[in-house]
Amino acid sequence: MKTVIEKITDLLTEEDRKKIQEAGRILKEGGLVAFPTETVYGLGADALNPEASKKIYAAKGRPSDNPLIVHISNMEALEGITSEIPEKAKQMAEQFWPGPLTMIFSKSSQVPLETTGGLETVAVRMPNHPIALALIDAGGGYIAAPSANTSGKPSPTLAEHVALDMDGRIPMILDGGAVGIGIESTIVDFSGEVPMILRPGYITPEMIRQVIGEVRVDPGLAADNPSVHPKAPGMKYKHYAPKADLILVNGAQEKVVKRINELVREAEKSGKRTGVIGTDETCGLYQAGVVKSIGSRKDEDTIARHLYGILREFDELNVDMIYSESFSTPRIGQAIMNRMLKAAGHQVIEV
Ligand code: AMP
Ligand code: MG
Repeated sequence: MKTVIEKITDLLTEEDRKKIQEAGRILKEGGLVAFPTETVYGLGADALNPEASKKIYAAKGRPSDNPLIVHISNMEALEGITSEIPEKAKQMAEQFWPGPLTMIFSKSSQVPLETTGGLETVAVRMPNHPIALALIDAGGGYIAAPSANTSGKPSPTLAEHVALDMDGRIPMILDGGAVGIGIESTIVDFSGEVPMILRPGYITPEMIRQVIGEVRVDPGLAADNPSVHPKAPGMKYKHYAPKADLILVNGAQEKVVKRINELVREAEKSGKRTGVIGTDETCGLYQAGVVKSIGSRKDEDTIARHLYGILREFDELNVDMIYSESFSTPRIGQAIMNRMLKAAGHQVIEV
């Protein structure tokens, strides 16, 4: 299959509107279209068409018990696919939609089990990206879309990343440039008594508490507790892994830099090509290896935005080892470290 990449620069132009209509037609006919959202690029299919959903699993190599998030463009659409909308979820939608928040509801019979990985619940998000919203409308209103990467690889934050993974497997990629946030949505489950965060993201527990009061964090997310399985089926799988072996070094900055310098020297002595992930503040302190800055500790959003891109850059450089600082930054550090730890297979050196 030939993959067409369409650049979208201005939705007000006739030209771009035609491209969105064409992408919408592909979706309505049961095909796949990759598109930008504010979090990462998504791989879209008609969420109400079981055959279309199956194509997502095939294109990504995604395990079939890992459910998809259904993307909508307006609140009325939520009623069609859910059997109940709790009051607190409405308050959350009011505050955070459109935006990087996914909520889990009891599903209506409209939603096929192929889309929900066999579950009676459905994950729903209203993204805050003009191209995504226009495509949802053009494609019938309900677009199932996981991240548009091959299962296990870092999520795509540029159309070029999507092309590397999906070229020849899907008919169309909409290129809207770099995404703004760079890590996936926060997932909150409303099916229990107390709402529970199943995946940390840009919307923090603190922000949620301010709107609805008590919220729990899924204990299965804790890195040091392998016996407790996470509640979101997808969180148990290997994720975001670069080709190289990634090892995180955690501790006070001076000690971290010293240890990474030692580790790089040792690795290079044994003939390994080595990469280092530092920050704008520390990059100048590393003496060997391919050193890249993920962003600035003064602006943690920059770290989230470049996380997946930097892992893919090291893939292209064919390094054998990557040593990285850890990024438990104040606000979204939990979300960033959730991804980093998975990418590293939980290999952490404490200094
Ligand atoms: P992705 O689309 O790649 O960002 O992954 C979607 C995430 O949402 C996965 O971790 C899924 O397990 C999770 N998810 C989707 N639907 C549900 C659901 N009904 N219940 C719990 N988790 C879900
Ligand atoms: Mg994903």
